[in-house]
Amino acid sequence: MLYKVRDEITKDYDVVIIGSGLAGMTAANVLGRHGHSVLLLESHNKLGGFATWFYRHDRNHVFDISLHGFPVGMIKSCRKYWNKEIADSIVQLKDVRFVNPQFNVQTTFTKEHYTETMVEKFGVAKETVEAFFKHLAEMNFYDNSQMTNRELFEKFFPGRNDVTRFLMEPITYANGSTLDDPAITYGIVFSNFMSKGVYTFTGGTDHLINRMKEELLKNNVDIKLQTKVEKIQIENGKAQGVYVNGKLVKAKAVLSNGNIRSTVLNLVGEEHFPADYVEKTKAIRLNSSSCQVYMGLKEGATIPYIGELVFTSTHPTYEPARLLDLKVSSRTFSVYYQEERRPRIAIVSSTNCHYEDWKKLSKEEYEKEKEFMIEETIKGLEAFIPDIREKLEVVEAATPVTVERYTLHPKGSSFGTKFEGLDVSMNLHKTIPGLFHAGSVGIIMSGWLGAANYGAIQVNAIESYLGAQNVSV
Ligand SMILES: Cc1cc2nc3c(=O)[nH]c(=O)nc-3n(C[C@H](O)[C@H](O)[C@H](O)COP(=O)(O)OP(=O)(O)OC[C@H]3O[C@@H](n4cnc5c(N)ncnc54)[C@H](O)[C@@H]3O)c2cc1C
Repeated sequence: MLYKVRDEITKDYDVVIIGSGLAGMTAANVLGRHGHSVLLLESHNKLGGFATWFYRHDRNHVFDISLHGFPVGMIKSCRKYWNKEIADSIVQLKDVRFVNPQFNVQTTFTKEHYTETMVEKFGVAKETVEAFFKHLAEMNFYDNSQMTNRELFEKFFPGRNDVTRFLMEPITYANGSTLDDPAITYGIVFSNFMSKGVYTFTGGTDHLINRMKEELLKNNVDIKLQTKVEKIQIENGKAQGVYVNGKLVKAKAVLSNGNIRSTVLNLVGEEHFPADYVEKTKAIRLNSSSCQVYMGLKEGATIPYIGELVFTSTHPTYEPARLLDLKVSSRTFSVYYQEERRPRIAIVSSTNCHYEDWKKLSKEEYEKEKEFMIEETIKGLEAFIPDIREKLEVVEAATPVTVERYTLHPKGSSFGTKFEGLDVSMNLHKTIPGLFHAGSVGIIMSGWLGAANYGAIQVNAIESYLGAQNVSV
């Protein structure tokens, strides 16, 4: 059932899930399907977390926030954890482009096409490219390798900043990874994408999330929106429920889809954890945040085909730090052409950025920077579509401060935590029985596919726990 905002929750549940990001929703759906009683609580007024959208002008304009591209594995995950209809609406992005001072490449983002481009355009020996891909494929999460991305690229392509840019820049855009992050995170994310290219949902995020909501209700998951969990109840060392509006909702297990740091330090409280676990949690670094500019075209306005995902930069070389700069010289354009459910063309420009750069600004400075960002973005787009300015009807921008306000992620972190967050997340239920976490952590469990899969993975741990408690289902 879908609770109304004012409804009081009087039932006890097998599992309460805090947050309806892709991890929270996927866990809820699988648990519901398996016959557990599940309550999904979301502080926002709609499901989806970062998998979200907004409308303008009576829904004539629809803007997707994070639907830019994910690996092919999403098809299998959606078929397994959701349904065939959802899986069948995933399609490949055929045209990914890179336009920067070092190269101009159009690609399907597949291993075959990357190999061909690296050999023919960048002049790298075929054996080297093959050895690189083989190395990535053999990388194992359990190897505990300390190699960084910088060392990985220096090993295979010494002194080749252009090749590093080709291989690394899309991943930096996608999840904020830098050359100092562990190579294993790059290896896993890049290999996922490289298996068969980049994919998206036809029909947009709103359509997808509505279908997911239908599926959740069909599987008897109870949902309550606009309900912020204030605290997780720990009694006798175990999670026993959550507090909403000052009232306890009892549950045998609790899964938090909120940020791992907030879950441990705020929702539970450090007094419930051993000192070394708290120390590890406090040491978790957050990933960077995002700025976006949303541009909606006037009715009937058309544009030449410029590709679906266009990585652009005017910066001479690949420098991850510059991708995060307030005065950004690099941005990705996602172009959403007209389709049945999208009456007007939409273009969303995304850049990675630092929360502090925006948070420290006064109200006036903040508005000025936003205007500057919008203006620079339109100028950047004019390089591809010279008359774009006169075709625009809606132009808006979001910053890390916006991301933080809507998702409750500390510092507006758009891809959860750096690598060390994974260990803390995976050990949460070993530290407090009955309390689980699933959501963007450790880079590899981030993004649409990583988050959805992590939700499903945690179902196994929750069911073992419920089974051990002799909970009948
Ligand atoms: C601008 C941008 C672009 C992106 N582009 C891509 C992309 O192209 N491809 C890709 O794969 N990924 C992309 N991502 C990342 C991807 O969207 C996320 O990694 C993924 O959706 C996160 O899912 P999650 O399960 O971790 O939960 P989140 O989406 O973080 O959702 C967590 C939910 O928990 C709720 N919550 C938190 N605390 C509480 C509380 N106390 N009580 C109730 N509810 C609470 C929040 O409101 C939120 O709805 C992008 C992200 C951003 C920001």
